[in-house]
Amino acid sequence: MSRTNRKTGPMTTAIHAGEAPDPTTGASAPAIHMSSTFVSDDISGFSAHDLTADSPYAYARWANPTVAMLEAKIAALQGAEDCLCTASGMAAATAIFFTFLNQGDHLIVSDVSYAGVAELARDTFPRMGVEVSVVDMSDPQNIANAIRPNTRLIHSESPANPIGRLTDLAAVSTLAREAGAIHSTDATFASPIGQDTVSLGVDLVMHSTTKYIGGHGDAVGGAVAGRADLVRKMRLEASIHHGGVLSPFNAWLIARGASTLPLRLKAHQAGALAVAEWLEAQPSVTRVIYPGLPSHPQYDLARRQMANPSGMISFQVGGVSDGERIARSMIENLNIIHYAVSLGHHRSLVFWMETQGLMDSSFRLDPAQTQSYRAFAGDGIFRLSVGLEDPEDLIADLSAVL
Ligand SMILES: *Cc1c(COP(=O)(O)O)cnc(C)c1O
Repeated sequence: MSRTNRKTGPMTTAIHAGEAPDPTTGASAPAIHMSSTFVSDDISGFSAHDLTADSPYAYARWANPTVAMLEAKIAALQGAEDCLCTASGMAAATAIFFTFLNQGDHLIVSDVSYAGVAELARDTFPRMGVEVSVVDMSDPQNIANAIRPNTRLIHSESPANPIGRLTDLAAVSTLAREAGAIHSTDATFASPIGQDTVSLGVDLVMHSTTKYIGGHGDAVGGAVAGRADLVRKMRLEASIHHGGVLSPFNAWLIARGASTLPLRLKAHQAGALAVAEWLEAQPSVTRVIYPGLPSHPQYDLARRQMANPSGMISFQVGGVSDGERIARSMIENLNIIHYAVSLGHHRSLVFWMETQGLMDSSFRLDPAQTQSYRAFAGDGIFRLSVGLEDPEDLIADLSAVL
């Protein structure tokens, strides 16, 4: 956006932020800079600690022009001061955790969170001397109760994967600020378009760019956007020292996807609403959880906090044996929707997540938390990522198995 200072709308921002015509070739589309090193006009080396925002490119683990283009685009889309891109969504999560948590610190993490994050918090951090509280964040009071003098980081996820439960992000941001802690949020389900997470007071917003931002199921990546001072620390610690950097090729694919994110999210939302309303009318479907439906238990919060409820639906079909039978039938009988993990792609994806199995493996929640989870998910949910196909084709596909 070199030629104007005017703040542009989200569709213009998605297309132009971070990009400009190539000054030497005139190419309108961005180049892929597949270069690991960059020629120097300085005779001696320098430390990564000396890097500033206008240091020349030196080595691609420190910075690469194509990755920097995507970082500028995501920062602009998210309305954040800066952004760090990483090799995956999990590398974005570890960039936050391993940059800001020290031995003796206390982490508060959502009891329903991406399984990799839940397992990392439960198994890895205690081994490293970090205290962890796993908290049901649907009620901010639970977080207030869990805060200790050494609470350094509060990590929420809204909407939470896989059940679509929400956290009042503005309330948690206030609690974090009062406690002198950093508030990070995983907003992968919402994308930067579905939720203005920065303006809710969140310090760091992470995304698995594998999902909506990339949007086409062809590249794994992650991003953390937010306060410039915090992003700078992560760039030094996570990129330069831990080394989980995004490849320029994936950055280019994800940036091309991000260019159409506002348009795609509108279509995801419209398709998801049509499918969710149809699901609610099916006798075999016992519950539909979609933040865009008035039946969502936190619909008021969804309306306050989300600009677009995106395309993620969770639905129940009764008990474990019903779920198992339908999941098997989906594998055999779905023609359009793929039975697969992941989400946010142009192709629709569905996957069954049985509650007890998740409790035994990833979540291992206490009885009260398990009860709260079951209030949302029963014995299990089908997590449906509504893609960009015609909704009536998705409905026809689902009606053959439900
Ligand atoms: C997929 C996902 C992640 C992990 O991202 P990867 O790119 O697979 O490493 C983290 N959080 C949420 C909410 C996700 O859906």
